[in-house]
Amino acid sequence: MAFVAAICTQCGAQIEMDNTCEIGICKHCGTTFVVDKAANELEQLIRMAEGLQQLGEYENALEKYQKITEKYPQDVRGWLGCVQNYSDGAFRKEPGGWDAEWLDKEPFSVWYQKAYLLAMMTPD
Ligand SMILES: [Zn+2]
Repeated sequence: MAFVAAICTQCGAQIEMDNTCEIGICKHCGTTFVVDKAANELEQLIRMAEGLQQLGEYENALEKYQKITEKYPQDVRGWLGCVQNYSDGAFRKEPGGWDAEWLDKEPFSVWYQKAYLLAMMTPD
C-alpha cells in the first residue's frame, strides 16, 4: 500500500495515510485521522471552477458552479460563482453589458438571492 506523508495534529509526528487518503494513523501517539471526503470533493470542485473562470471559460465555469450548488447548496461560493460567471459571460457576449433586469429573472435571481442569504449568514 502506498503512503502519503502527513503531520499529526496531536503530537507533530509524521503520520501515514493509506493510499485512498481517507484514514491515517499516527505511529507515535496512535491518533487516527479520518479525512472529510465530502469537504475534499467540494474544494476540488471549487478549484476546478475557479480555474475555468480564470481562463475566461465562463460557460464551463458556470456549469461547474451549478453542479456545486446542486451538491453543496449550503456553500456560498457555488452561488457566487454562478452569479459571477453568468454576468462575466454575458458582459462579453452582449455589447449592452450589465442588465439590471437580470436581478428579477431566473436563474440569475435565484442564484443572487441564495448567495445573498448565505453571505448574510456567514459570521465573518
Ligand atoms: Zn501523533
